[in-house]
Amino acid sequence: MLGPVEPYRVKVIEPIRMLSRDERVDKIKKASFNVFLLRAEDIFVDLLTDSGTSAMSDNQWSGLMIGDESYAGCRNYFHFEEVIRDITGFRNIIPVHQGRVAENILFSNLLRPGDSVPSNCHFDTTRANIENQGAEAVDLVIDEGRQPDVDHPFKGNIDIDKLAEFIKNVGVEKIPLGMMTITNNTGGGQPASMENIRKVSAILRENGIPFFFDAARFAENAYFIKMREKGYSDKSVKEIAREIFSYADGCTMSAKKDGLANIGGFLALNEENLATTLTNTLILIEGYRTYGGMAGRDLEAVARGLEEVTNEDYLEYRIKQVEYLGNQLTESGIPIIKPTGGHAVFVDAGNFIDHIPQHHYPGWALTVALYREAGIRSVEIGNVMFAKKDRETKKEIYPALDLVRLAIPRRVYSNSHMEYIARAFKYIKDNPSYVKGLKITYEAPMLRHFTCRFEEVA
Ligand SMILES: *Cc1c(COP(=O)(O)O)cnc(C)c1O
Repeated sequence: MLGPVEPYRVKVIEPIRMLSRDERVDKIKKASFNVFLLRAEDIFVDLLTDSGTSAMSDNQWSGLMIGDESYAGCRNYFHFEEVIRDITGFRNIIPVHQGRVAENILFSNLLRPGDSVPSNCHFDTTRANIENQGAEAVDLVIDEGRQPDVDHPFKGNIDIDKLAEFIKNVGVEKIPLGMMTITNNTGGGQPASMENIRKVSAILRENGIPFFFDAARFAENAYFIKMREKGYSDKSVKEIAREIFSYADGCTMSAKKDGLANIGGFLALNEENLATTLTNTLILIEGYRTYGGMAGRDLEAVARGLEEVTNEDYLEYRIKQVEYLGNQLTESGIPIIKPTGGHAVFVDAGNFIDHIPQHHYPGWALTVALYREAGIRSVEIGNVMFAKKDRETKKEIYPALDLVRLAIPRRVYSNSHMEYIARAFKYIKDNPSYVKGLKITYEAPMLRHFTCRFEEVA
């Protein structure tokens, strides 16, 4: 195999700076050993998220110059609408400034307290917006989707039997919609198969339940279908995407992912009456129908990003770059979740860092060591983020997996950065004493990982 190789060349560069180790020791200490509290300019390779961090193309940047900033009816909206209609087939296109606003508008109009919304796994803003309406967000991903060492081509699939049983037990009147996240972000960026999408759609339609995708990474999911599912290797990614959307009634979208833009999103749907209701809420909380919280130039950047994201040279490089990093880590004996997903590599830190007890947060300690030794920012998805507290003893109960996520921004880092990241892991593996256990000195009552402070333990 000759690849992966970047299908673009560099025209503008953004310098990044590697501080000395002494400076990094000082910076992470001043940040109380929490990588969220670092300044981005003190980081060499930033793998915190793939959201809003994509590099735009020359075509997108030139689109910014023809932004039409008219309040109503700007030309960029019509381009935006045309591109999204072409990919999704949905008739009504409602712009929002990011994905969670689409969720808020949809759920505040559809959900009542006591309702439930099934999905493979809900993303955290999706779950929060459902719960904010007093409803329940229910995850029905297949069992393989929760087993890190099981290899399965479509770990983002919904368990069809569980879905059927769920509908029977809860009752259709309590399920105003069903959802599916493509790719399944919370489950590690794992795709769902067309067969599974078709079956989910059939069950929901039999029961008269509307079906919406959370489509943030629809192009990456479509590419996995092309690579892995029988009958799709000769279809274009765009044809596959159109088939995916044909099984649903609408979607929410964060264009900060597969929109290849730094901000933006949309709601798309067929049903006219619901679209009118949602548009009224849009005007109340976000903006007029033809801009929805975005500048005209940003609508243009998203429209052009969506035209580019189904390009198969791009997608091949994108998926293979993530896999390339995963393979290099595996070769160095670093345990990761397999197979690698579309947008990130998940390191099984609980297994990798075995000299630190659970209550000194091995995953978090690894994020600190990655910054201190190599200037890399990663994010812990494990003991700090998800610990629950026992009501009586106040002892922390940890999740099954203590992971560190390496999210790969789109078109930003080269394969030589991937090799650098893999070398940093090897270096830490060879020098385990650089990873030091932590104890918490401050924590907020909710979402503590964003702001909590630590001390290192001897
Ligand atoms: C990022 C994301 C969202 C929320 O989108 P924002 O643009 O960050 O508000 C929703 N669902 C999924 C799957 C996402 O990855």
